[in-house]
Amino acid sequence: MHPVIDHDECIGCGQCEQVCPEVFELRDDGFAYVINEAPNETLIPEVDEAIEECPTGAISWE
Ligand code: SF4
Repeated sequence: MHPVIDHDECIGCGQCEQVCPEVFELRDDGFAYVINEAPNETLIPEVDEAIEECPTGAISWE
């Protein structure tokens, strides 16, 4: 499983990067990107938190 971001939904708020900068990065194009396709177990709770806090529900596990 790896986190994915739906760029049709992402509004570039940067919340995911604030919660888990090891996995999410907000770029100049206004979208967040997954920079770690295989987060280790210690990062999974932070990814889950980012999923919960994303205001548009753009992040999911795939
Ligand atoms: S929290 Fe959601 S909407 Fe905000 S930058 Fe991250 S993916 Fe995009």
